[in-house]
Amino acid sequence: MTDTATRARAVIDLDALRSNVRALRDRASGAELMVVVKADGYGHGAVRCARAAREAGAGWIGTALPEEAFALRAAGDTGRLMCWLWTPGGPWREAVERDVDVSVSGMWALREVVAAARECGRTARVQLKIDTGLGRNGCTPADWPELTRAARAAEAQGTVRVTGLWSHFACADEPGHPSIAAQLETFRTALAQAAGAGLDPEVRHISNTPALLTLPEARFDLVRTGIGVFGLSPVPDVGGPADFGLRPVMTLEASVASVKRVPGGHGVSYGHLYTTPGETTLALVPLGYADGVPRHASGGGPVMVAGKWRTVAGRVAMDQFVVDLGGDSAQVGERAVLFGPGDHGEPTAEDWARATGTIAYEIVTRISARVPRVYVGEREDTGTTGSGT
Ligand SMILES: *Cc1c(COP(=O)(O)O)cnc(C)c1O
Repeated sequence: MTDTATRARAVIDLDALRSNVRALRDRASGAELMVVVKADGYGHGAVRCARAAREAGAGWIGTALPEEAFALRAAGDTGRLMCWLWTPGGPWREAVERDVDVSVSGMWALREVVAAARECGRTARVQLKIDTGLGRNGCTPADWPELTRAARAAEAQGTVRVTGLWSHFACADEPGHPSIAAQLETFRTALAQAAGAGLDPEVRHISNTPALLTLPEARFDLVRTGIGVFGLSPVPDVGGPADFGLRPVMTLEASVASVKRVPGGHGVSYGHLYTTPGETTLALVPLGYADGVPRHASGGGPVMVAGKWRTVAGRVAMDQFVVDLGGDSAQVGERAVLFGPGDHGEPTAEDWARATGTIAYEIVTRISARVPRVYVGEREDTGTTGSGT
């Protein structure tokens, strides 16, 4: 731990991450694994997590934004890398020059990537995306024949190579949802059409973590896993991390900044939403909504202090919140654990998600840059230990 991390820290367990990657690879049984590290690795630190994922055998890394992919290249990642969220004028040429696979969802994007490939005299790696029913990004089935034909023509001219055909599920976290079978059928039809147009991609893929865990028939050649790599379950009603051989990677903790005895009837934090029911001990935890602790956790977020679960007392403020220790005592500097793997009795990100009406994805991803990341389990030969991104 470094000096900057005395207030609070997100401890990132890279051994757990590697073990999760291996567990997910086993489950993919033959299909390749793409480890998704968008949004700074769901808050865990994209560069360190991508490196650890490669060490554990991830053949592909995925990001949403081109700049997220470029940051990995700048950090020395040389493996297969894909990004999918593009807007007109997007940095196509930089992506082509850096050998990043780019997603193309429509004719405008194909035109722009072909122009960029011509400009720099290289072949762009393109993955065509079909909207099989998510209703978000992706080419509609109606426009798919035109897009696949145009992509094939560009291949024949040497400006692009269609490396992948792909899609994304809407409800993979609800096993049995009728949209899943419908999307799979649409995807298979689109693959057949693309083959008919003469495309022969390296990889076909539609599965995210929930699909990998619950829908073996959807693996195709590659599965894209984000949340599972970080050790959280996308289907908490079906099973927790341990049920899938996964272990949470992030522990969010802080050092208690103040401990004091107060009489009963003492208001606590803004608006006095909480009033002490009797004489008690209050502990101040120096983390707030600026650090990504949800303000919705006011009066409800679980925190382990001095060996017991407590609840956020009153409002979460920008920088701090209070817990009521009841009859217990604690020392200033005592460790307060908001969430972790759960095996030392501490709450988990899933507990926070339940307490605040969201999903564990959001709980870890929203932890802001103000909280230092402290890496454990980093391999010696990378020459970088301690905190930072
Ligand atoms: C984020 C994302 C993933 C990873 O999803 P998880 O549920 O975290 O595994 C996969 N594919 C796309 C297109 C994504 O945006």
